[in-house]
Amino acid sequence: MIQIETGWLLLIPIFFGLGWLASRWDLRLEARQDERERLKQQRSTFKGLNLLLNEQPDQAIETLVKVAQLDPETVDLHFSLGNLFRRRGETERAIRVHQHLANREDLKPRDRDHAAYELGRDFLRAGLLDRAEASLNQVGAGKYAIPAKESLLEMYQVEKDWKKAIIAANELQGLQDKSHQLEIAQFYCEIAQEALRRADFPEAEGAIHHALSAIPNHARALILQGDFYLANERPQQAIDVWAIVARENPAYMHLVADRWMAAHHAVNQVNLGLDQLLALLKTQAIGELLDIVHKHMMQIRGAQAAEVMLVDVMQHSPTLSALSKLAETRLALAEVTGPETRVADLKSTLGLLKQRTTALARYTCGNCGFRARRFYWQCPGCNHWEAYSPRRTEGAVPSGPSM
Ligand SMILES: [Zn+2]
Repeated sequence: MIQIETGWLLLIPIFFGLGWLASRWDLRLEARQDERERLKQQRSTFKGLNLLLNEQPDQAIETLVKVAQLDPETVDLHFSLGNLFRRRGETERAIRVHQHLANREDLKPRDRDHAAYELGRDFLRAGLLDRAEASLNQVGAGKYAIPAKESLLEMYQVEKDWKKAIIAANELQGLQDKSHQLEIAQFYCEIAQEALRRADFPEAEGAIHHALSAIPNHARALILQGDFYLANERPQQAIDVWAIVARENPAYMHLVADRWMAAHHAVNQVNLGLDQLLALLKTQAIGELLDIVHKHMMQIRGAQAAEVMLVDVMQHSPTLSALSKLAETRLALAEVTGPETRVADLKSTLGLLKQRTTALARYTCGNCGFRARRFYWQCPGCNHWEAYSPRRTEGAVPSGPSM
């Protein structure tokens, strides 16, 4: 009896061994199946890439999308593919790839945000702004929250939707350690300028107030506040706020000098207004302010006084513009006193000088180097705010973009 029981006991390790062998066999079968699957996907991926290289992008997308359905590991490949299409300007294809990713149920939240962000960029590139906005707004809080918000901010500025731009800039400030107050002040200034154009004074006043809260004594906001007062027949108040610009940001005074004179005219103080602009010329003679002061000088005090002023300017801040204005003034004097030969001489000198100053006098963006004849608060080249120096210069003709 005891012998039989011992015999059975001996069988136990044998069964164990057989079980172990069977499980190994099963694992090997499974591994072989996985390997076959992997090779199949690899072949499909290669086929997709091959189609791509053979300039058959649509078939390539079909094949690669199928691979992605089988293998979630190819997500990165798809992002690269979508971005490649977008960079090549093939936005429709980029949208198809990114849309496919965004629709996948098995995507991790981080990849889903990434897909929504890329899709938003595609729609932006395609000019489908409503869809871009919807897609970018789907991006959750994570790695893509800041770039998505930055894209939205960029988009609202292109659309000139300043109210939404203010909200986006405020949200962006909450997400990153960077102030957007300067842009916010400019957005409010855009709203104020538009409201002043429509004579919507309550809206203009509110926007100016917000701009000045964002950046106290902001030059553009103060200029607009003066415009608001002047439009409401309060010239003295206009003069008072513009005097702050003259004191704090004199380089911007050329933007308001004509209205400054109009306001002084309204309070019967043209000479006081002109004297204050003349005082500014000591430091601000390089640029447009000189042209404006010269114009008013000719009208109010005549050509002789204008000539004295320009000779003085030429001594401390010689520029082609000042020389041109001097020739213009001397021509006006010679036309009265003669002789004929001097008039002819001055005319040819003036013609030459005007040609050169028109070709050279430009405002230059400090960010991208874009040069423009008129001053811009936002650079048309790179869209940066307050990147233009308020001083017009007469540098050599650059090779960069200009208008
Ligand atoms: Zn620029």
